[in-house]
Amino acid sequence: MENKVRVRYAPSPTGFLHIGGARSALFNYLFAKKYNGQIIFRVEDTDVERNVEGGEESQYNDLRWLGIIPDESPMEPNPKYAPYRQMERLDIYHKYAQQLIDSGYAYYCYCTNEELEQRKEEQLNNGVKAAKYDRRCLNLTKEQIEQYEKEGRKPCIRIRLKDHEKIEFDDLVRGKVTFSSDDLGGDFVIIKSNGIPTYNFAVVIDDHLMDITHVLRGEEHLSNTPKQIAIYEMLGWQAPIFGHMTIIVNKDGKKLSKRDHNILQFMSQYRELGYLPEAIVNYILLLGWTPESNKEIFSMDEAKLEFNPARLSTSPSMFDQQKMTWTNSQYIKKLDDESYLKFIKPFLAKVLDLNKYDDVTLLEIASLYKDEIGYGQEIVEPLNSIINPKEVTSEEELSMLNLDSTPIVFSTLIEELNNLDVITPESVKTAFKNVQLKTGVKGKNLYMPVRLKLTGLSHGIELVNIIKILGKDVVIDRLSK
Ligand code: GLU
Repeated sequence: MENKVRVRYAPSPTGFLHIGGARSALFNYLFAKKYNGQIIFRVEDTDVERNVEGGEESQYNDLRWLGIIPDESPMEPNPKYAPYRQMERLDIYHKYAQQLIDSGYAYYCYCTNEELEQRKEEQLNNGVKAAKYDRRCLNLTKEQIEQYEKEGRKPCIRIRLKDHEKIEFDDLVRGKVTFSSDDLGGDFVIIKSNGIPTYNFAVVIDDHLMDITHVLRGEEHLSNTPKQIAIYEMLGWQAPIFGHMTIIVNKDGKKLSKRDHNILQFMSQYRELGYLPEAIVNYILLLGWTPESNKEIFSMDEAKLEFNPARLSTSPSMFDQQKMTWTNSQYIKKLDDESYLKFIKPFLAKVLDLNKYDDVTLLEIASLYKDEIGYGQEIVEPLNSIINPKEVTSEEELSMLNLDSTPIVFSTLIEELNNLDVITPESVKTAFKNVQLKTGVKGKNLYMPVRLKLTGLSHGIELVNIIKILGKDVVIDRLSK
């Protein structure tokens, strides 16, 4: 590429990092890295009322957690392009708005919301399908302006769209896209009456001044693009190359809605549940992008090499949480001992007092579940059933627990365990052998009462492992009660 590639991820801090946002960020990042370019993190915080406390910080941290590291951001500004928060750039927007006014491409509008609403309704009543601003303020006289000012009205600034103009661009994902300037909803606002720019204006100014070469974003912005291109033309600037990624849908084919609480959609939720960032990246990579080979497992480095925007899909991508969990389980299986222990410790800590175990024992315990869990939190319940057992209540289990042979089995096992110096699968097996020899009880009648007494459950991991996890003292204690 001729110009150095510069892309951006530009979240509004109105919430936390969402699957869709993470995908935009990832594809931009991969695109930048493939072409030795840069990705910037820009904060589009002009929707002041909807901004949430900590939104920017958590978006930024979650990106980094995923391994999507911006080259520039409010935290690592390049003086040439800073500041990176739109609310810190208001002077810049005002300057260009003024330039558009001076050149006749924009004008002040004093209409109030009530007036606009009323006239819109009139238009609709008159059979107009898509109501638009009627340009009442396009050619105000000096007297009219003075009158409005006297009334204390604060004007907004509107773009003066050309009529019947074809606006066309080559979309990286969907090819040639054509709009008519007549279908953009009329002369839209670029600076609101409170002096804050609208998204469509600020984004153009910033993308241009920050030397953005490519804009990869969600399909929901497709209809904004002709408005932005109109502004680029009025300012005499070259527009970047646009690419609009398809929407993400749920299993029913409906667009993923942030309000749908049946699906976890925020990166922080997955982090807390014990998903690995590498696995999420791998899954999201395939959410709307198809590799040339049928390879399914990609590291970030491989993705950087192989990512090709021409293979972004043109049909909606289905988010399947189960598939992502499966991907995660594959990554968990591949962790080496040290990484697995580090990853799983916070979840072990929800059940075990970590001070009571050394790392070797913790790893042994955690390894019993390594092939079973889809994510870290899934170790908690089964482990907890061992540490904090339930009472046996079902008839069937009670009669299994209270066999005539149970007291002698328990007391003999206690003796055997007392004689053991170390608890290993082998030593525990030998202990059970001895109990069998001494009492004549074997098989289910031997093992099941012990299992029920120790855990309250008739199923679970191997009994020797349960004894290993609990340790000799706890086992003896539980069997004695
Ligand atoms: N702030 C916009 C959003 O969060 C960014 C859109 C864009 O990439 O232009 O949707």
